Amino acid sequence: MSVTGLCQRCESEAKFSCDRCGALVCQAHYDPATGYCTECAAEVRGGSGPGPR
Ligand SMILES: [Zn+2]
Ligand SMILES: [Zn+2]
Repeated sequence: MSVTGLCQRCESEAKFSCDRCGALVCQAHYDPATGYCTECAAEVRGGSGPGPR
């Protein structure tokens, strides 16, 4: 299923939607490994997050 709209991070053409927050994002702001936007992907990876949960 294709998604049409503008990326909610940079306003270029969005082709993906985040499975976590539902944001429409372009390829540059989408993490295919998680299916999330780059912001959610960074959070779930726990790189600089508040800690495991
Ligand atoms: Zn973008
Ligand atoms: Zn997200």
